Amino acid sequence: KDPLPQSRHLATEIPGPLSTAAMQRRKEAVSGGLGTAMPVIVNRAHDAIIEDIDGNRIIDMGSGIGVVNVGNSAPRVVKAVQEAVANFTHTNFTTVPYMGYIEVCEALNRLTPGKFKKKSILQNSGAEAVENAIKIARHYTKRSAIVVFEHAYHGRTNLTMALTAKNIPYKDGFGPFANEIYRMPMPYSYRWLGNPNTIAQDALEMVTHKIEKEIGAHNVAAILIEPVVGEGGFIVPPVGFMPGLQKFATENKIVFIADEVQSGFARTGKMFAVEHENMEPDMIISAKGIAGGMPLAAVTARAEIMDSSHVGGLGGTYGGNPVVCAAALAVIQTIEEEKLVDRAAHIGTILVDSLNALKAKYPIIGEVRGRGAMVAIELVHEGTKNPNPEAMAKVIKYCQSKGVLILTAGTYGNVIRFLPPLVITDELLKDALGVLAEGFASL
Ligand code: PMP
Repeated sequence: KDPLPQSRHLATEIPGPLSTAAMQRRKEAVSGGLGTAMPVIVNRAHDAIIEDIDGNRIIDMGSGIGVVNVGNSAPRVVKAVQEAVANFTHTNFTTVPYMGYIEVCEALNRLTPGKFKKKSILQNSGAEAVENAIKIARHYTKRSAIVVFEHAYHGRTNLTMALTAKNIPYKDGFGPFANEIYRMPMPYSYRWLGNPNTIAQDALEMVTHKIEKEIGAHNVAAILIEPVVGEGGFIVPPVGFMPGLQKFATENKIVFIADEVQSGFARTGKMFAVEHENMEPDMIISAKGIAGGMPLAAVTARAEIMDSSHVGGLGGTYGGNPVVCAAALAVIQTIEEEKLVDRAAHIGTILVDSLNALKAKYPIIGEVRGRGAMVAIELVHEGTKNPNPEAMAKVIKYCQSKGVLILTAGTYGNVIRFLPPLVITDELLKDALGVLAEGFASL
């Protein structure tokens, strides 16, 4: 097949006739409970371009929700998958083990921050890894309470729905939910009502006080936090808050868990976002960016925590499938050889500069925030902080019509988030940002 040119191209209106017809079939055949960010059908995708079945070439500013950090169909990943699938497709790791699983765990134990001895386990999805993280932390501590935060997203299974903050669309009507989950305030700087200069200390005092008075620290198995809050709108906890929280966790023998499902794997200009504050969490959850689009997730933690379960207490049929493990090893090699951690920081600079220039021009952009190549803008009504989801929808729709796929987020449905593949060229990124600027001008 011809290589896919890394440039934007409109062959038809978006969506084109073939996509529109296919979306009708989708409507007839597929559950209505699934959303659609962009109503086109993909034909193929390479690096930062998605080609639809009408021949439009769309700039990918979402990476399949922060998954294809190494690019769509990254060459090393494709080759590794092809070789692995021809060798053996499945044995189940607990039936007949294979080296790929062991090597991915070794790599995770090496790449995650923390100078202590670590061990890992592999699963199929972010939510399944979060479930296992909680399960392991409870077994290790022999405690049941779990502390989570406002604006958090941890998944859509029963336990992870309980851990997730937002009702619509994630939880409404899907209960009853798991118990012993306690939600704490998240210091969301842009919307914080207290003194802006002391947010980290004030929030820390509030949260630790609530844990002590409302739960009892000795009842808490784990504190679970996203180092950059993803679906909630790319909220970056103020510097000092998370390290303070971890100190409190350590003093009270609570397992400190970083959910790096969206922020991990080079996305933020560090391999893991907690590294921005030199943190060494007891446990780190990885998924999304770990395997270039193959379904893989992982829990990595201090060895004594990971070994606390009895044999057979952990497992699953597909977790750490051999094909997926081969993809993960290729992803790790790609990140290291292509220096994608540095590349994420570079992309972040371009994004933040360009978005700040837009913010200066358009007062409905209330804030530009994020870390590395995980950046967002929050849209408000001019002169207020009232959420402006209508403007967000118009800008997104404009960008789509011009062949740029940009994702949304946020508790108030008013955040535009940028998660481009880390292999995107500067040229393509600037083209996408140019279209975004036109989108604001068109309002
Ligand atoms: N945690 C975080 C921080 C996430 O962003 C997500 C997915 N958006 C999940 C957990 C759940 O991952 P998955 O969709 O693979 O179950």
